Amino acid sequence: MEALQKLPAITEWFPGVERPIVISGPCSAETEEQVLETCMRLKATGKVDMLRAGIWKPRTRPGNFEGIGSIGLKWLQKAKVATGLPITVEVATAAHVQEALKHGVDVLWIGARTTVNPFSVQEIADALKGVDIPVLIKNPLNADLELWIGAIERIQQAGITQIGAIHRGFAKYGEKQYRNAPQWQLPIELKRRFPNLPMICDPSHICGNRHMLFEVSQEALDLNFDGVMIESHIDPDNAWSDAKQQVVPERVGEMISDLVLRNTAPQNGSLSGLSAFRSQIDKYDDEIIALFAQRMEVAQKIGQYKKENNISILQTKRWEEILEKAFTKGRKVGLSDEFIEKYLKAVHQESIDQQNQIMNK
Ligand code: PEP
Ligand code: MN
Repeated sequence: MEALQKLPAITEWFPGVERPIVISGPCSAETEEQVLETCMRLKATGKVDMLRAGIWKPRTRPGNFEGIGSIGLKWLQKAKVATGLPITVEVATAAHVQEALKHGVDVLWIGARTTVNPFSVQEIADALKGVDIPVLIKNPLNADLELWIGAIERIQQAGITQIGAIHRGFAKYGEKQYRNAPQWQLPIELKRRFPNLPMICDPSHICGNRHMLFEVSQEALDLNFDGVMIESHIDPDNAWSDAKQQVVPERVGEMISDLVLRNTAPQNGSLSGLSAFRSQIDKYDDEIIALFAQRMEVAQKIGQYKKENNISILQTKRWEEILEKAFTKGRKVGLSDEFIEKYLKAVHQESIDQQNQIMNK
């Protein structure tokens, strides 16, 4: 734990790099031409510090492209020579680590589907004993901060001294706006506990589309993240994986130029002390509003149902049940009956108003 308090800044990993650190490249290496052209065009933007490409792809469902395998490492190695930029790949097993090391990979990253599994993370950690290479650890799929920290500790205990975290959002049932809900409270809390841990944001996997990449990247910088990892492709629409969220290399350059890098005052920067807690509160408020919106959508469906079946809006018995249940739950977590009643009345009134509009439209 103590070693994690003294980690070197990511700007010290490579000479001459500055905040924000920019990592870019395709979701997956597909062909030699695609890897080389993407990387050359990224280099030409002058905004990219490190190249990425997925070589082995852990896919949620079978039947999707599962990665080109080790041959892709040779293409990436060529891109490294051609551009002079360091390269990074995702590793999920000891064999991946060996292959990556053999091919001159400069930085390893652990993917979200691997961070969830302590056995896999430990296998990677064991393969890294005696090796000196920087490792970036993505958050686990689920919003479990301790599991993320556990993975970071396993890698640190293997003797790795250059460690960073990548925030790529969390799988969340019912989430509509993002592919993976950012739940910024978690990375903020991670940064509060380990102020020196380098933090990279991966807006591509948070957004799942191209349109919000800039906004999410800016938000990350405003929260003192050290940099971003953005997927790019020479022909995004025809990418073999994650087509919707990839952008052409030139767009990466544009976005990075447009990002505003605000001053970070270490004593009262947005990720220390009181302001870290305030940021967490703000993010919870954002989520509560998003949840209200989801709740209202269901209420509207009920309104439609009641209209079609000619049922009255106010069902007194149902309302009393909701209230009683909420009192019991609230008491268990230290919320007063008074607060619960005020809150539920406000929410209930909004539901009735929205249903009214539907039924009398
Ligand atoms: C990726 O970076 O292409 C990837 C698979 O990401 P994640 O582990 O965040 O899903
Ligand atoms: Mn991807």
